[in-house]
Amino acid sequence: MLTEEVRREADQYLMNTYARLPLSIARGRGARVYDLEGREYIDFVGGIAVNLLGHGHPDLVLAIQKQVVHLIHASNLYYTEPQVKLAKALVEHSFADKVFFCNSGAEANEAAIKLARRYAHDKHGSGRFQIITMKNSFHGRTLATLTATGQEKVQKGFEPLMPGFTYVPFNNLEALEQALSDQTAAIMLEPVQAEGGVHVVHQAYLARVRELCRERDILLIFDEVQTGMGRTGTLFAYEQLGVQPDIMTLAKGLGGGVPIGACLATNAVAKAFTPGSHASTFGGNPLACTAGLTVMQVLLEGRVLDHAKRMGDYLAKGLQDCKDRQPSVKEVRGLGLLQGMELAVDGKAVVEKAQSRGLLLNCTMDRVLRFVPPLVITQAEIDRLLDVLPHLIPAATQAGHHN
Ligand SMILES: *Cc1c(COP(=O)(O)O)cnc(C)c1O
Repeated sequence: MLTEEVRREADQYLMNTYARLPLSIARGRGARVYDLEGREYIDFVGGIAVNLLGHGHPDLVLAIQKQVVHLIHASNLYYTEPQVKLAKALVEHSFADKVFFCNSGAEANEAAIKLARRYAHDKHGSGRFQIITMKNSFHGRTLATLTATGQEKVQKGFEPLMPGFTYVPFNNLEALEQALSDQTAAIMLEPVQAEGGVHVVHQAYLARVRELCRERDILLIFDEVQTGMGRTGTLFAYEQLGVQPDIMTLAKGLGGGVPIGACLATNAVAKAFTPGSHASTFGGNPLACTAGLTVMQVLLEGRVLDHAKRMGDYLAKGLQDCKDRQPSVKEVRGLGLLQGMELAVDGKAVVEKAQSRGLLLNCTMDRVLRFVPPLVITQAEIDRLLDVLPHLIPAATQAGHHN
């Protein structure tokens, strides 16, 4: 099939939930992907921060191939080795003592929300249920997680929303202190708001949030679904921020492309879950956990993580240089290989033009170009972006004429 035919059939058979670009990706290698017509693209989207080791990483391919032959799924009625090994690897390299596996970021956050409610309920009674989240956050599309998400456009038309959530502006300590009450069970935030336009949490703010939580036995939940697994230059973003959470969620990069999510917690918190509290049929299945374990092993070996950190710095500097020369670039923000470039103009046209020049880019919040390439992206590939990008961004004065 060619892209046109796939598009026609997609329109006919798929629910209309995505505004897709006119491109059908057929295969990939490293940080390159190829469409059905055989055209090559450098991939700065990486399946939205998912294809962590790039496409076709030999270790990941081999591990998955082997596991498929042994066992794909067994359910959580029984023990399986890959699940335990992945949990052990995550625990040994994080603040956490215990892990619950599921299949996506939203599910990981559902688990975190349930765990926080159960912990607060058991320890402080049924009046403690409220979770404070941030405006412009993104936590998923299930009913609880779209409620946690501080963006009206995600919630509109799905009311009534889940009770027990309240929102405060990100990085605003005063607003947070005012929102705290006897009902507060947890504070949930992304160390870098990614979908929300790539905003990095302030370290001093986070330190104070940690203190407030400790003083009042409020749980601190980090949604590291996008920032986790080396994306920001350390295995988890919180390692750079000097603050540990009580609960952390992972998904996107964890399986290197195989769907898997995880909710991690300290022993004190995790013990609020007992048999029957929470479950997932697919959660932690041997195939997904083998993928996750391989991703962990590659990251822990060190070279990919070092490379990602260097490439993150290189990309950030290149984007800053571009900003200095382009008045229609307002700001460059990010950590590691999660970078955002805020434009004074619409980003959609830039993404479309980039595609015709062989670059896959993503735009969030209308005007923020978000760069989340595979961690194995090369300097030459970043150079290609930096050569082309300045020519794709229109001068701010033209912005009005575009729409
Ligand atoms: C993508 C994302 C989610 C949702 O993950 P899904 O796998 O799409 O459910 C939640 N939180 C953050 C920070 C994300 O980036």
